[in-house]
Amino acid sequence: MTRALAFIVLLLLSLTSGGQVSVRIFARTRPSTIIFTPLQGEFQLNDGRDKYLKISVNETVAVTRHDNQIIYMTLSGVSAVTDSVIIEPLSEGALFSLRAPAGGEQLKTLDGFLKVKSYPGSLQVLNVTSVENYLPGVVEAEAGKSGPEEYFRAQAVVARTYVYRNIDRHELDGYNLCDDTHCQVYPGIISDSLITGACKSTSGKVIIDRDSMLIVSAFHANCGGVTASSSDVWVAKYPYLISIKDPWCGYSRSSTWKAAISLSVWNDFLRLKNVEPGNETELYSSAGNQSARVSNYKVDGIHVSKEDIRQRFNLRSSFFTLARTSDSIAVTGRGYGHGVGLCQDGARAMAAGKNSYEQITGFYYPGTFITDIKNARRPERP
Ligand SMILES: [Zn+2]
Ligand SMILES: [Zn+2]
Repeated sequence: MTRALAFIVLLLLSLTSGGQVSVRIFARTRPSTIIFTPLQGEFQLNDGRDKYLKISVNETVAVTRHDNQIIYMTLSGVSAVTDSVIIEPLSEGALFSLRAPAGGEQLKTLDGFLKVKSYPGSLQVLNVTSVENYLPGVVEAEAGKSGPEEYFRAQAVVARTYVYRNIDRHELDGYNLCDDTHCQVYPGIISDSLITGACKSTSGKVIIDRDSMLIVSAFHANCGGVTASSSDVWVAKYPYLISIKDPWCGYSRSSTWKAAISLSVWNDFLRLKNVEPGNETELYSSAGNQSARVSNYKVDGIHVSKEDIRQRFNLRSSFFTLARTSDSIAVTGRGYGHGVGLCQDGARAMAAGKNSYEQITGFYYPGTFITDIKNARRPERP
């Protein structure tokens, strides 16, 4: 027991020094039942009522919501109703799997602590781990599985910068980040050695602006040759999220695309916008604005944005031109995603062209620097 306590103290110390993060697991589906199974090492369950249970490999714990409380049950037959359960690792490198039998969530392999309590309508399942152990899974989920190591290094500093800048995003809910697209997708611990190596070799590195402030590290799949300025897409203005020409991403299939909208559906959209069909010629391209990311039009005195059109017709990006044919609207588009910040296809090509991750982030976020997290500042909460 003393050895276990000493280990927990050691673990807590290493978590604080390396940066700790609490992540809500299964945040999208919010299950009412989860199943915990040790994969490696030993654990201890603390039910908050002076009961401590050792959980070893071959044991399993199911936790189910029961109104404002929870019920936990072990495979070996221990069960109780309580307010919360904390499962702590007792050995270094301890790993467990977590499943939610209903709701179609993928099984996750996790490390660190698990905290479970009842939450209105579901369980609240929190995983407390270190930022550095959390990052590889995020990089794999957000960056895809292919790319030179330098590309994954760039994505690792982007994801790490996001974590530290948004560490208080769910403060009011009692944790740091969720595991869904709202924050960053976290599939759990992964085994890909290229990605884990890229995270390790950039350990603690983040991106800052001229005021040493952690940047808004936006990224997208493909910019179509020109990135978008944040002020055009989100109103918020940052000196490093400006529109730049990107010569690197043209090789990708996402770089150009075509779509067609039937005339009757298009006319319905115009009427919904209070634009009389026939008066919208302003929206149709001349070849001259192909390279510009102009996003807003005024038609009949009414504001129509490309973002509205993208959302209504489920287009890959809002970087496109429209042309009217006899029975349809031909859409010729470029890029995939919002276009702000780092272009992933371009970053891959830069990495393949022997550029360093510092050069890649410096290109897509002009005027920024790489530094250690201890030298970075975070904006004050309003
Ligand atoms: Zn979130
Ligand atoms: Zn690009």
